[in-house]
Amino acid sequence: MLVVMQSHAMQAQIDKVVRVIEEQGMSAHVMPGATRTAIGITGNTGAVDKSLFEVLDGVEEAIRVTKPYKLASREMKRDDTTIEFAQGTVGPKTFTMIAGPCSVESEATMLKTAEHLVARGVMFLRAGAFKPRSSPYSFQGLGLEGLRVLEKCRAKTGIGIVTELMDTEHASAVEDAADIIQIGTRNMQNFSLLKRVGKCRKPVLLKRGMSSTLEEWLMAAEYVMAGGNYQVILCERGIRSFSDHSRNTLDLSVIPPAKALCHLPLFVDPSHGTGKRAYVPAMALASLAAGADGLLIEAHPEPDRAMSDGAQSLDFAALDALLARLKALAPAFGRTM
Ligand code: PEP
Ligand code: MN
Repeated sequence: MLVVMQSHAMQAQIDKVVRVIEEQGMSAHVMPGATRTAIGITGNTGAVDKSLFEVLDGVEEAIRVTKPYKLASREMKRDDTTIEFAQGTVGPKTFTMIAGPCSVESEATMLKTAEHLVARGVMFLRAGAFKPRSSPYSFQGLGLEGLRVLEKCRAKTGIGIVTELMDTEHASAVEDAADIIQIGTRNMQNFSLLKRVGKCRKPVLLKRGMSSTLEEWLMAAEYVMAGGNYQVILCERGIRSFSDHSRNTLDLSVIPPAKALCHLPLFVDPSHGTGKRAYVPAMALASLAAGADGLLIEAHPEPDRAMSDGAQSLDFAALDALLARLKALAPAFGRTM
């Protein structure tokens, strides 16, 4: 249910609606809008009686939300969600680049990367301190030491930090170090982890599960939002299919329906989507054309020496060439970079 307030509704009237919702044992999600405030209701197990709210002062109407993902749906919030950072804005009319090595490596490698990115106006450095690897014998990441390296990069260059959280145990440490908390494809339905980041103060980059439907993905976003963290960025990173020409099948066809159903920003990761650096630029450009709000690209000063995912990492020259093409094309799609 969505309770839409009148445009001149007073704070006391909004508070009263919230109180009535909570008295019924449900949760209220106040969403201020450009012209009026709306209040989303979650936590009801059965149908909610509209008349409970329609009689209250300042209420314009109560609308039933039919989708199972309530807070993530356009029924609940028609306008695109924008997320503000010290480095800039993520959302409609912009196109944001997140780039960096797959894993946090040495301080020197990370600083070199951060400086390169900042000089080109890239807002976010992304690298994993905790790595979900298919083999227990592969490099698992530097852990807490990796978070310290990322913090140094931000302190020295001002770049925003995106890094993955793999388990609830490290939630506070990752939340403190990151500007955006990444949830990986393998954890998209780790519900305890989703509930935990729902309590975080930092935005969450939610990668699509490699075998998840759009609805399952949006339900995962709903877990985070139901906890009170409304700052979720979706990230398509490729799904499993029968194809053997690429690591995953980058499902750009999910972008238009995801955008139609959901107001959250949507990024694309063509690095994991293709698994091969030669194919990354084409898919990055296609993501912009298909309506994505930004990209997550793996880039490394020496990809062939990367500690993980080197084969899909761009070197700096290739990253610069891609950035130049994206910057030239973005205005044609109504976006600035
Ligand atoms: C990564 O971003 O390096 C990563 C492990 O991604 P995914 O969860 O999409 O496999
Ligand atoms: Mn990777």
